[in-house]
Amino acid sequence: MKKTTGMDRAATSKWRPATRAVRAGTWRSEHGETSEAMYLTSGYTYDDAQTVADRFAGEADGMTYSRLQNPTVAMLEERIAMMEGAEAARAQTSGMAAMTASLLCQLSVGDHCVAARAAFGSCRWLVDHLLPRFGIETTVIDSADNAAWEAAIRPNTKVFFFETPANPTLDIVDLEHVCGLARAHGITTVVDNAFAGPTLQRPMEFGADVVAYSATKIMDGQGRVLAGAICGSEEWITETLMPFQRNTGPTLSAFNAWVVMKGLETLNLRAQRQSANAVALGEFLEPRVTAAGGRMLHPGLASHPRHEMALKQMDATGPIFAFDLGTQTRAFALLDALELIDISNNIGDAKSLMCHPASTTHANMGEDGRAEMGVTDGLLRINVGLEDVADLAEDMDQALKSAGL
Ligand SMILES: *Cc1c(COP(=O)(O)O)cnc(C)c1O
Repeated sequence: MKKTTGMDRAATSKWRPATRAVRAGTWRSEHGETSEAMYLTSGYTYDDAQTVADRFAGEADGMTYSRLQNPTVAMLEERIAMMEGAEAARAQTSGMAAMTASLLCQLSVGDHCVAARAAFGSCRWLVDHLLPRFGIETTVIDSADNAAWEAAIRPNTKVFFFETPANPTLDIVDLEHVCGLARAHGITTVVDNAFAGPTLQRPMEFGADVVAYSATKIMDGQGRVLAGAICGSEEWITETLMPFQRNTGPTLSAFNAWVVMKGLETLNLRAQRQSANAVALGEFLEPRVTAAGGRMLHPGLASHPRHEMALKQMDATGPIFAFDLGTQTRAFALLDALELIDISNNIGDAKSLMCHPASTTHANMGEDGRAEMGVTDGLLRINVGLEDVADLAEDMDQALKSAGL
């Protein structure tokens, strides 16, 4: 008999990654639809009163309310878990909902969290402003310094929180070392894997406990919906995350889940091609940027201090890199001269997009915060898309010339 459900782990766990990306989690209705069904329902009905009582008591499987379960969202969650190699995953309304839930579900007053200095602006806001308001101590360190992680550990340290590669400076964290250190001290690692995605990097293979995502980025990959996800052990998801999630409600909509699920089917193809395009465009830009006195921040190029480590941890280095032109005037001149590449602060999209982090994604950190993180006034971040890289290089070439570089 043909398999009608990709929810059967006994069958799906034998599948190789490419098969998981298109079939894991597929849960067909009695109609046998090829494309996963979109269940736009908030509630469910029951044949009798005992059925619903059993479900609420946790004694029977089945849906009760879409803040807690929805078939379309469940399909996405199973697919993400299978692609990540995680026991379980839960979808969230956005990447920031995922980061907030990952931290607040497990930290309490008196606990301590060590976080990476280089991070997405809102992730730093959680660490610098939100957690301290609830009496949770935080220490921010240089995540590329292995010794700094160990030095920051206190008796009450409960969580390590970091991104790799980090937004927007492309710092690479030594996953094996940092996750191993955390394990040895009973600390839970929460890794924001938005820049890589599960086809390029699976932090759990290096000992990470929790992997959190902005699925808005390369998972959707076509700039359509906001979404997030959290992966972990079955026990952590059920006992630590779910009490927080079911009662606070950062639950993804069925529509957005369906869009992201379709994105996952092509994720590896897009991530590989966009990574290759990013390396090719980086190689084109590097001599021009350095000749102008600037600096490349690209884990796919040999000039990156952790290039070898990035290649060891990742299947490819991803679509995003940054470069520093020295001044905001030069950075703005280049952005304004672009004809093909769009000015946009989104990433992971099939379209090439470029932004100036200091005045956009990292504007609310203040000058001192940016200086500490290396977000300089001349820094530009690019998401390299699926266009022909020769067209991207031509656009950069004319824009550099018209910016006088
Ligand atoms: C975009 C991003 C987020 C936030 O995700 P949203 O879906 O926009 O809420 C978190 N972390 C990183 C590294 C990101 O790039």
